[in-house]
Formats: sequence, structure tokens, C-alpha cells
Amino acid sequence: MYNPVSEQIVERLREIVGPQYVLMAQDALEPYSHDETAGLSAWPEVVVRANSAQEVSEILKLANEERVPVTPRGGGQGLSGGAVPVQGGIVLSLERMNRILEIDHRNLMATIEPGVITGELHRAVEAEGLFYPPDPASLDSCLMGGNIAEDAGGPRALKYGTTQDYVQGLEVVLPDGEILQLGGKLIKNVSGYDLIHLIVGSEGTLAVVTKIIVKLLPFPKEQIDLLVPFDDIDTAADTVSAMIAQNVIPTTIEFMEREAVKASERMLDKEVPFSDAAAHLLIQLTGQRLDEVEAEMDVVGELCLDQGALDVLVASDRPTRDRLWEARRMIIEAIAHESPMNHTEDISVPRSEIPAVLRGVREISERIGIRTICFGHAGDGNVHVNFLNPDLEEDLWEQRLEEAQQALYDLTLSLGGAITGEHGIGAIRQKYLVQALGESAVEIMRRIKASFDPNSILNPGKIF
Ligand SMILES: Cc1cc2nc3c(=O)[nH]c(=O)nc-3n(C[C@H](O)[C@H](O)[C@H](O)COP(=O)(O)OP(=O)(O)OC[C@H]3O[C@@H](n4cnc5c(N)ncnc54)[C@H](O)[C@@H]3O)c2cc1C
Repeated sequence: MYNPVSEQIVERLREIVGPQYVLMAQDALEPYSHDETAGLSAWPEVVVRANSAQEVSEILKLANEERVPVTPRGGGQGLSGGAVPVQGGIVLSLERMNRILEIDHRNLMATIEPGVITGELHRAVEAEGLFYPPDPASLDSCLMGGNIAEDAGGPRALKYGTTQDYVQGLEVVLPDGEILQLGGKLIKNVSGYDLIHLIVGSEGTLAVVTKIIVKLLPFPKEQIDLLVPFDDIDTAADTVSAMIAQNVIPTTIEFMEREAVKASERMLDKEVPFSDAAAHLLIQLTGQRLDEVEAEMDVVGELCLDQGALDVLVASDRPTRDRLWEARRMIIEAIAHESPMNHTEDISVPRSEIPAVLRGVREISERIGIRTICFGHAGDGNVHVNFLNPDLEEDLWEQRLEEAQQALYDLTLSLGGAITGEHGIGAIRQKYLVQALGESAVEIMRRIKASFDPNSILNPGKIF
């Protein structure tokens, strides 16, 4: 169905971006053959590092005419293989397009290119008293284009929502090379179908994002973080539900099982208080006024103790806060370090079902005989369930993993949940899509894909 990348195509690519930005040597291609998804890799034939929308347009036009697949790539931090070129062809890297073009105080908007590192956008706007809330744990390595394509969330999604809640405008290049401007510095816009939010979360399958306008907020000046240990997992999960039921919405409520905290401690060689506790909640409270944040802290602290927390540790100074968050952000890497054969699931359920999910995961783990570690964004119902393989033969591991995945999805869907909250379908969850959404919804999605990309050259092998 696709053509190989011929010498003539490579020549044209060199003319478009300059020869030094067309990579073909094996050692140069290797980093582009995988993302952070364990056990998945596929080699591109060529990597092209574009520097402008015009270059992206010319590359896509050429690939479309020649029927060569193109896989857009940001920071390669994805956890569902979205940036892995499973059909070979061209990897289109957006890393060079890394300029923050404008921070507009009068409209509270920033205009940026897709290669801006998320953490750098944070720092740039915070230096001007502004705030861009979405904070995936990979924020120092992932790029804004990748965040748009995956609708990245993060701990602060509980109070502030995910990437889609901040995107007001996009410049995108369609698979045939046409450059489209969508939206702008507008808060309100209901002119026709909402193509911006169709592209957000579309995993690089509909168009390549070349410019982004995001909404900003005033930076919340005050912040207090609480580390709350529990001596059993159910009590921690019930506390999350109790907090939401009482209309208390912190900025984040992160959940970490003991083994997640321990793995992180070992990786960082730093101690986390109460690390022997069965589970921890990491709760962040933010606001503009200290008295308000402290009042919220009193309510949350009391509620946690009433529910049976072992203690409530307050981190109000920056070094203590940074230590706690460093441990939280390190979990995925720490688990992968300890068990290179592992698999991360990313289910999302109504918040009230968090206790049922955690109980169900324990049951699946015991019944199938597979090790699990859970952590994640408990406040918004998004639990990362990690399956680990410390000692099983590869065949047995794969068989049990598949059984465990199916059981987890059955449980999640029976609770009204979704099979992925923020990591995406990518190259690893396609076969569960119809079960999750139903035949009709998937068929509509296929038709949308065909109307953007009739030759299916853009990121084939993803989602469907
Ligand atoms: C340690 C760790 C922690 C993580 N924590 C979180 C978390 O808290 N929340 C969360 O949501 N995710 C998290 N992730 C997953 C990942 O970081 C996010 O999915 C992130 O958005 C990926 O961005 P990236 O730039 O690395 O994208 P890539 O992995 O390079 O690509 C991801 C997808 O985006 C597409 N894409 C990239 N750029 C463009 C573009 N310009 N136009 C069109 N399509 C494009 C690619 O084709 C691919 O389908 C984590 C990952 C790791 C490794």
C-alpha cells in the first residue's frame, strides 16, 4: 500500500529542509525508532527535522504524492507508541520549531511553536506572573505539539482541566500540504464545527500542528502541598471520594501505592516520609491568598484524619515540595528501571469508582498471577495500573498480560470508564477500541480520518 522512501524522495527532502536535517545513518535513526512505550519499536527509513510550517507543508505534499507514510514526532515521551513509525517511511520531527513567539498580557494568551518543551513554557509565563496549568509528569522532556496530539493531562487536571481546555487557536498542515489557521486569541467561537478540538487528542493522525495559541491564567501565588500516608489502600481511595463528595476540590490529589513510592525512593536515593505506609495521597492546594489556602488546608487535613490517615505532613517550603513532586514524577521511570519488562495502563473512571477500581486490580493481580503497582491522578479518576514482570518467561508474561489487560478493560468499562485517560490509543490499544466505543462511533471516526487523509499517509497504524 505504501512506497519506500526512494533516493529521489530523499533528495527532495534535503532540498526542502537542508541536507543536515535529513537523517539516515542507523545511529541517528535509532532514537526515533521508539518512544517510552515498553517493548515497542519500528525503524523509520528517514528522519526529517523541519523548521517551519512551509517546510512541513512541502514534506507532506511530497509524501502524499509519493504515498509514503509520515509519523509526526515531538519529544518521544509518549506511552502508547504514537510517535513510533510502525509502517516505516518518514519521521517528521518538530523539535527544531521551539520558539515562544509571544506572551500576550492583554489577551492572556501565548503563541508558541510545537517544539517548545512544556516545562519551558511554564517557566517563561511564570516569569511574567502568568500560569499555564497542564503539567504532564514528563513536562521537562515532552513538547507542546505532543501534548496537543495526546490532550495531555497531569496532576493539576483535577482543578484546571487538560490541554484541550487551554487551546484557543492552531495552525495545522493537512496531509496534502495545505496550511490551515483555526481559531485565534478568542475566548468564544462557535463558527461551525470545532476543528480545533477534533485535532486536540487526534494523536497526529489528522494534521501536523505547527503553531499553537494557548490561554493563560494569573499565576496562583500561594501553594501548600500535603503528603498523607494511609495504612491501607481502601482507606486512601475512600478518602478521595469523601473529599470530592464534600465539594472540596484541591488542585491535585495524586495516589501512590507503597511499591510506587519505594521504587522512586530507590531510584532517587532519597527518602520519602512514611514510605512504609500502604498508600499515600499527595494533595496540592493553590490560590491567590494565603489565608484562603490555609483554610482549605485545615478542611482537607481534618477530613483526611477523620477518614483514618496516619498523619498529614505539610510541605509549605519549596525544597520540601520539590522533593515530594520529584518522587511522584519519577515513578514511571523508576518502575521501568526495576522491571524493564513492564506495561502501563491508563484507565479513567468516574471519581466515585476509584475504590472499586483499586479493589478490582488487586483481584485481577491475584487471579491471573501478575504483579501490579497502581498510582495516578486519583482526584480525576485516572489511575495508572502498571503490570510488572520480575521473573516470568516471556511467553507466559505476554499471555498473562493480555488476560490482565482484558480483565482491566472489562472492569473499567463496566464502571462507566474509558480505556485510556491521557496516554492515547496509539499503536497498542487499537484492538480494544470497538469494545470501548461501539462500532458506530469507531466508523464515524474512520470517516473523519478519511476526509482529512484520504491516502492514509499521516501516522498510519495508530488509533485504528
Ligand atoms: C515519565 C513519563 C510521565 C508521563 N506523564 C504524563 C502525564 O502526567 N500526563 C500525560 O498526559 N501524559 C504523560 N506522559 C505521556 C507523554 O509524555 C505525553 O503523551 C506527551 O504529551 C507526549 O509528548 P511528546 O512531545 O513526547 O510526544 P511524542 O511522544 O513525540 O508524540 C506523541 C503523539 O503526538 C503526535 N505528535 C507529536 N507532535 C505533533 C505535532 N506537532 N502535530 C501533530 N501530531 C504530533 C505523534 O505523532 C504521536 O502520535 C508521560 C510519559 C512519561 C515517559
